[in-house]
Amino acid sequence: MCLNRLTRLAVGFCALAWNAGAAEFVIKANQTEISFQERDGKIALGGITDIRGKVNYVLNTVTGTALWKLEFRPPGGDESQALVLSPDTVASAPEVQYVAGKRLTLVWKNLTLKDVWHPTRPQEGAAVDVTVSVSRTHDASLTDWRIQVANRSTRLGLWTVTFPNIAGLSVGQQGLMAVPFGTGWLTGDPVMGDGFGGKYPSALCSMQFMSLFENGSCLYLATHDPHAYVKDLALTSVKDRRRGLTYGLTQYPENMGMPGRGYEQPYPCLIGAIDGDWVDAAKLYRHWVLAESDWMKGKPSIAKRQDYPDWFKRLPLWFGFHGMTDVNMASSRALVKYMDVPMAVHLYHWHAIQFDTQYPDFWPPYDVTFKYSQELRALGVKVMPYLNCRLIDQKSASWKNDAAAKYAALTEPGHKTFDEICSADQKVQLSAICPATTYWQEKYLPLTRRLRDDLNVDGIYLDQVAASAPVLCFEPAHGHPLGGGCHWVGGYAKMIANMRAEAAKTGKFVFLTTESAAEPYDFDIFLRCNEGAPFLSPIWMTVYSGYRASFGFYFYADVPEEWVPKLAMQYLWGIQIGWAHVDEQITGNPRTLAFEREVARARYVGSAYLAMGEMLRAPKIDGKLKRVQATWKNFATKMPIDWPSVQATLWKSEDGSLGLAMVNLCDQPQTATFTIPRKAGGFGLSSVVMNAIYPKNLIPQTILTGRELSHEVTLPPMSAVIISLAKVKLGGWTQR
Ligand SMILES: [Zn+2]
Repeated sequence: MCLNRLTRLAVGFCALAWNAGAAEFVIKANQTEISFQERDGKIALGGITDIRGKVNYVLNTVTGTALWKLEFRPPGGDESQALVLSPDTVASAPEVQYVAGKRLTLVWKNLTLKDVWHPTRPQEGAAVDVTVSVSRTHDASLTDWRIQVANRSTRLGLWTVTFPNIAGLSVGQQGLMAVPFGTGWLTGDPVMGDGFGGKYPSALCSMQFMSLFENGSCLYLATHDPHAYVKDLALTSVKDRRRGLTYGLTQYPENMGMPGRGYEQPYPCLIGAIDGDWVDAAKLYRHWVLAESDWMKGKPSIAKRQDYPDWFKRLPLWFGFHGMTDVNMASSRALVKYMDVPMAVHLYHWHAIQFDTQYPDFWPPYDVTFKYSQELRALGVKVMPYLNCRLIDQKSASWKNDAAAKYAALTEPGHKTFDEICSADQKVQLSAICPATTYWQEKYLPLTRRLRDDLNVDGIYLDQVAASAPVLCFEPAHGHPLGGGCHWVGGYAKMIANMRAEAAKTGKFVFLTTESAAEPYDFDIFLRCNEGAPFLSPIWMTVYSGYRASFGFYFYADVPEEWVPKLAMQYLWGIQIGWAHVDEQITGNPRTLAFEREVARARYVGSAYLAMGEMLRAPKIDGKLKRVQATWKNFATKMPIDWPSVQATLWKSEDGSLGLAMVNLCDQPQTATFTIPRKAGGFGLSSVVMNAIYPKNLIPQTILTGRELSHEVTLPPMSAVIISLAKVKLGGWTQR
């Protein structure tokens, strides 16, 4: 097909930028340049270029990429009837509307819905129009990618919309990929890696941005969706001949499979080149998410929150109380006395029902639960019982009495409920209940009252809510759009708000927590148990530090050597320390227990940074440092680690000072030199005063005046340290 078959529409001051035989359309946003070219009668993405960094992120050896893919299905979602449309499968070329440098719009009109694999099946002519646009944005270096689909089919509805679908994205072997897997995951040489894909929002896809970066240039790939519509993010690697990564954003329309329903992407998909790396990408995302998202907009920082008592803002340490036994109570007394810092306890098996059975009928507790809860509170420990707020047991009284089957999420239209078999002594059928139902939003209110009044709890844990991806629910009686949408998140938002309001009715502060983290859920703290893995990175913390708190990892008694590095990672990342079983702590290695106490104390004293500050780019650490080898366990996987004994992170408090958190993981003192750029603290040319926050006698107060802030510190064996750096105020040193 020749170029002439492309319909060209002059729009405004449209400048048609192609010469004879070579059409090119360019959109520029600061240092980002997106170019499309006509190839073989199709319009194809030619480049995503960082002009300043002189990098084109799109391999020109990869051709024939479909920029969008639409899957259609009949009502009911029968996959055997599914039909896919893409620019590769349609005969017609798009209309081109081009405003030079600013916007390119491609319109495919009157597309035929036909099954190329089953030509005898009915066809529908002129059934679908697809409009795709790429525009520059007015701020930052980002371009805005949108898709709109008009569907006139009387037989088929949209099932998924994959857009953008960009193949051939690449960085070199020294480049990295950053994705929102758990706390965040960096992969080197990502073209040859395993790629990434996850359903948002969930533990496996906790935020909605990714990045590729190398040599100071970073490609930012994000949706800035303030309502958290369910979607799949993917960067799929094509290792064969290093053909790059395919960025695919799969969008699930509301009312999937409904004939005649179109789709208009309800949020921007943003792509652009920025200077830097994953930290810069995370800070760009932070800027948007704190200001614009439904879940953060208008929320003050933890330091400024009026609804949070001071003890909650500074809470440093957790333990797990698994089973209502005198032994656990005695261990708790001993642990609290030994640690001598404020603590919170996660109560498991406090209820008379067996774990993972009879949900959601958690009440009543064992008789001793009242006694232990009271005793723990008398020790100053904050008490938080376990609940599961996602599943219901089909043998429970609630299932029968509430006729709850009708509230279960239906994964297929008109078909079976979503079942999950959990391990207990018996096989149990547990169904995910649709949180978009008023039933589920209010189900836990009587239990919340009893936990507040009868058990006098300080917090409530809602298992699985953030960890699990939304179920695409197809039950029409629930009154929400079928399949895709943001009603799953919106339903849980109502449940969380209802429980929060109920818990607060007597004036007591009761915090809410959940398993793992996914950004749109409004919990006060997120339990990072699943994410205690040595290959993860603190991308979440770089985005949300100072606004949202995290706590806990799994600690495995059968691999005691992993405890120290895990405790160190919690400390350095600002995660509330611990969460190990109380009995395993008290009977464990005294050296490990001493280190736990050390990091908990340092965290408590350094709360202005580690609990309420913003995590910045990690400082540079030099020195002849010993290395620490250990085995790290995460679920059934055991991973070797080989770390430098001294590690550090950098934090900025609300008062503008910096906090340098450091650990030494070996049994000898270690001397290390830190180097921090002045711009990290916005110190300009001022002198900077350095003070030891913990331990107090680590270093004398010192003035730093160099071009960079650098100093040598000797860390005691098995220690946690926090040092402040603040601008010297006129009239004297800043005293802390
Ligand atoms: Zn539903």
